[in-house]
Amino acid sequence: MLSAVLAAVVLCALALAADAPVPDFKLVKLGDGVWAAIGSDGGKAGANAGFVIGEDGVAVVDTFEDPGAAKQLLAEIRKITPLPIRFVVNTHYHLDHVNGNDVFAAAGATVLAQRNVRDWMRTENLKWWGDKIKPEVKARVESLKLPDVVYDSSLDLYLGTRKLEVRSYPGHTGGDSIVYLHDAGVVFCGDLFWKEHIPNMIDATSDAWIKTLDELVGSGAGKFVPGHGEPGTSLDVRAFQQYLVNLRAAVGRAQAAGKRGDALVEAVLPEMQAKYGSWGFFQEFAKTNIQQTGEELAGTKRRPQPAEGTASAAPAVPYLPLRVKVGEKAPDFALPSANGGTLRLSALEGKPVLLDFYEGFW
Ligand SMILES: [Zn+2]
Repeated sequence: MLSAVLAAVVLCALALAADAPVPDFKLVKLGDGVWAAIGSDGGKAGANAGFVIGEDGVAVVDTFEDPGAAKQLLAEIRKITPLPIRFVVNTHYHLDHVNGNDVFAAAGATVLAQRNVRDWMRTENLKWWGDKIKPEVKARVESLKLPDVVYDSSLDLYLGTRKLEVRSYPGHTGGDSIVYLHDAGVVFCGDLFWKEHIPNMIDATSDAWIKTLDELVGSGAGKFVPGHGEPGTSLDVRAFQQYLVNLRAAVGRAQAAGKRGDALVEAVLPEMQAKYGSWGFFQEFAKTNIQQTGEELAGTKRRPQPAEGTASAAPAVPYLPLRVKVGEKAPDFALPSANGGTLRLSALEGKPVLLDFYEGFW
């Protein structure tokens, strides 16, 4: 992916050598003290970022693919406010969103991310180059500025009275977060949302991703900042969701017709080209989207895994309130009680109890 992007950078540079250079990113004001930094496709920024200004400081969302572009972003923030850069939130571990972390850390920011981002940043980011990675690139990836603070599912940040709701959702890598500015109706989605761009699905779990997009639309926000592309509305989030739905359906149909490998790509690509050929990154990602979704549906896809023993690695457990009815024969087994003893469930008749209910237990 990065080599394709690098090729695009070179082609862009050649094509534009005679004209004014395309800026690496542009700032878009989305509300009072809420800014998106929209990276140009093929530019050094490599992705979108953003920042939020509160009464006592600034929080930055993602830090671009290139430290030079991150320094430019810091300089742009400095033109708008002298307040300290207090936080960086990394929406996920991919290099195009974290390679400027050190720039903002040097400016005083504490870097925050979902736990898996810290576990994967210096390892999983090596895969973009494979065996051909240059020593200096490897050294850079292996010294990326890691998050200082990690969380499993959510975190609230305050800039004075301004609240940023950081929430983790599955789908794109398994360690993605959004930043929701309720007071401005803005969601920074990271790469959970791509506006009119074909997504990078190398780590994706597309069925979970489709559900996540329902939740983002359900937030009621009016403005959604994607990881790539211009800021959009809930309609754009729905259009992106439909891409994932269409991709899964087309791949599933072709697999049912016996298509595998290159034949699968050949069978599905024309349909996707007809619908999405005008989207950004079609050349870069459309074929791999088909291959990777094929692996996903076949159950053979490799995805980065949470570290052993972390809450991120534990299966989600639904928590059900259960009322034991009077006169009903309750299942009579021992439960651990709060004081270290055991409690017979039959002794709880008539009382509301909360049980940890594991799928497959009953
Ligand atoms: Zn990205």
